[in-house]
Amino acid sequence: MTLRIPADLLPGDGRFGSGPSKVPDGRLQALAASGSTLMGTSHRQAPVKELVGRVRRGLSELFALPEGYEVVLGNGGSVAFFDVVTHALIRQRSQHAVFGAFGAKFAKAVESAPWLASPTVLRAAPGGRVLLLPEDGVDVYAITHNETSTGVMAPVERVAGDALMVVDATSAAGGLPLDAAQSDVYFFAPQKSFASDGGLWIALLSPAAIARAEEVAASGRHIPAFFGLTEAVAQSRLDQTVNTPAVATLFLMAEQLDWMNAHGGLTGMVTRTAASAEALYGWAERSSYARPFVTDPAHRSLVVGTVELDEAIDRVAVMDVLRRNGVVDVDAYRGIGTNQLRVAMYPAVDPVDVEALTHCIDWVVERL
Ligand SMILES: *Cc1c(COP(=O)(O)O)cnc(C)c1O
Repeated sequence: MTLRIPADLLPGDGRFGSGPSKVPDGRLQALAASGSTLMGTSHRQAPVKELVGRVRRGLSELFALPEGYEVVLGNGGSVAFFDVVTHALIRQRSQHAVFGAFGAKFAKAVESAPWLASPTVLRAAPGGRVLLLPEDGVDVYAITHNETSTGVMAPVERVAGDALMVVDATSAAGGLPLDAAQSDVYFFAPQKSFASDGGLWIALLSPAAIARAEEVAASGRHIPAFFGLTEAVAQSRLDQTVNTPAVATLFLMAEQLDWMNAHGGLTGMVTRTAASAEALYGWAERSSYARPFVTDPAHRSLVVGTVELDEAIDRVAVMDVLRRNGVVDVDAYRGIGTNQLRVAMYPAVDPVDVEALTHCIDWVVERL
């Protein structure tokens, strides 16, 4: 027997997954309407190049990119970009702030590259946070703007010295505040705050980052073409990619960027994610059976919220009832927390729907 959540409690849209994430209604129809002028046409011709240009301009506007910064994109998603950093940006040695699964995966990619010196890895336990520290001999500092596995956010701030600041912003970009001048490489993918699909990486590169890519490329190191950066920069300047991109993914991202820029830009988006976060953490703090997983309120993410439930509550049964009622993907990241739910609060997610989700969880818990 399935519990039926009353219709007036249900969120307008029940997709709360951390990635792929909610694609707003109407977007797939817009894609269908653009139909044969884009899909199935050459990425070397004007219509798709114009689409890539729309994405690049939309990002420059959203992040108010400083003079000389460039929007560069390529295939493979954010995890592939870990290897771009390893092959094409680290001269010799990096330092990593690791406070969750994605930061750990990034550090691991670097640790396993035999041409690099062993990186310094600063670690915090899940739910905690560690920041970068000035260190001699380091030429890249790497941090995760939002650790999607644990729901911890970190500030993007330069470390003293002239090493490159490399930021995995996969789930943060577009939903957390950013002063782009504080980073050299701010990279992300379209399936999180940009309400699109996976498979591409996008990086905001400073002039210093572009110069570093040229320096490393000229050093004689073997760089597989897929992980090269200089050709990606050259192709991006032409509104193209090194190899064929997913055109539908670019289209959905361009539509979301137009919406973001028309609704207050990054400030408007952060207002939205902050309202969602207030609804989620406020509820968890008032609840008799739930609490925020991240103990320091200043570290609690505005874009991916994690909540621990009392052990007496059957989390899997709660998620099962939610799913049967169209409310999906609130599962914790594997191995994080003891009895946890994780809720994406990207800009496309309506704060009112996060509030409705909390009422639905209460309703289900009372009846199980
Ligand atoms: C989702 C995510 C990734 C992985 O992105 P892919 O595009 O699937 O490779 C990496 N880092 C963070 C912080 C993420 O949230």
